Amino acid sequence: MSDCLFCAIVAGDVPADVIHRDDDAVAFRDIDPKAPVHILVIPAAHHATAAELAAADPAATGRLLALAGSIAESEGVADSGYRIVTNTGPGAGQSVHHVHFHLLGGRDLSWPPG
Ligand code: AMP
Repeated sequence: MSDCLFCAIVAGDVPADVIHRDDDAVAFRDIDPKAPVHILVIPAAHHATAAELAAADPAATGRLLALAGSIAESEGVADSGYRIVTNTGPGAGQSVHHVHFHLLGGRDLSWPPG
């Protein structure tokens, strides 16, 4: 989508601290991190929400979650624990309408989330 920030990051038109890129997915560090490890894992294709992505391409959804898991390993938080969060809609605080999985770790994460 032409007016989508994360499509622009996928295209390389907006700079980001990219830690992984392949044909289907990009992972980059959040610009305003909420934990020592805060990485956004996104599909290259534009889908607004996780539910829309899962309905359109369940296999890609699974690959993104597997990628998040492998990044948790490489970032050193797999053993201490991490959280994968997908905000959906205004009440949940979704501010970018290109689905993204937040990978958070490196500190104790309270529950329930705010
Ligand atoms: P959400 O509010 O769940 O939609 O998450 C959007 C996330 O994108 C927030 O955590 C922002 O800090 C992050 N973000 C916004 N712009 C950028 C950017 N240019 N590069 C990296 N992360 C960004």
